[in-house]
Amino acid sequence: MRVAEVALARRTEVTLAERRCPHCGTAGAHLHGKDKNDQQRFRRCTTECRRSFNILTGTPLARARKPEKWGQYLSHMTDHRSVTKIVEAGIGVNRATVWRWRHRFLKAAAQDNARPSPG
Ligand SMILES: [Zn+2]
Repeated sequence: MRVAEVALARRTEVTLAERRCPHCGTAGAHLHGKDKNDQQRFRRCTTECRRSFNILTGTPLARARKPEKWGQYLSHMTDHRSVTKIVEAGIGVNRATVWRWRHRFLKAAAQDNARPSPG
């Protein structure tokens, strides 16, 4: 499952490097501090689209809840723990949430792998 974590780290890196608006594809948005969940925010897009976004906009994780728990969840996931074990470890989310995250993280990873990389 390490692939999911790597894919997310890579997405963060690429997004920070390109600062590309997920709505219109324009690169070069300005950084705008971090939100309360320590996710990088970007100032509004510099073109007429003018929409704001963060690293997860446009990904299956954009509307996932409790991002402050993702780090703990991912570390369990990369240790190949089952959903039941992760719930039992007591990270403060229920079974349904863990299942949903598992699905979303894998989907996000698959999306990144499907995208052709430059060069
Ligand atoms: Zn835009």
